[in-house]
Amino acid sequence: MHKLSSLKVGMDVPWVTSWTAEETTGAARCATVGGRPALCQTSDPGRGRPLYSQNHLERQRDTVVRMLCPMCGKATTPGDRWTLTAKVRSAGALRARGVNLPAHIHDDQRMVDAGAIAPLHKACARRSAKLCPHLRADPDLKLARFPKQYVLTPLMAQPVGDGPGQPVIGFIQLCGVTATLDRRWRQDG
Ligand SMILES: [Zn+2]
Repeated sequence: MHKLSSLKVGMDVPWVTSWTAEETTGAARCATVGGRPALCQTSDPGRGRPLYSQNHLERQRDTVVRMLCPMCGKATTPGDRWTLTAKVRSAGALRARGVNLPAHIHDDQRMVDAGAIAPLHKACARRSAKLCPHLRADPDLKLARFPKQYVLTPLMAQPVGDGPGQPVIGFIQLCGVTATLDRRWRQDG
């Protein structure tokens, strides 16, 4: 049995974080991706221990598909989307890493690779930079605006269990698209 934690989800622990009480249940059609097959997980945030380095599969997909702040779980608006850890890379460099970007994006397009981390509210970004030991230890931490345009790329995963299963959606990667002549990507406090 997992005990209810005294840590508050969305306050002490990011909303997107997995807890020890939440078990992976394998591949199933999932509402987070419009009913496509995806890896799923039971939902019981706040019970057991938080697994800080492990996002909850369904909440992660929800954050990037619905643009929910991974810290508090509430929706972000285009004017209040911030990243701490995203890296600027060209679309070509992302493709070389195996990211399947839409064909209309040119190789020299500057992209903001957020990995699997949806943008945060500015206040939540500041809060997590202060509270999270992983972030505090990151020398490359930069508070920056997330672009208004972005693309989502499913990260396919092999379902566990018997037999050769088709890969299904695991997490979803998020890449911002900077406007072609936009040089406004900047550090901003
Ligand atoms: Zn937030």
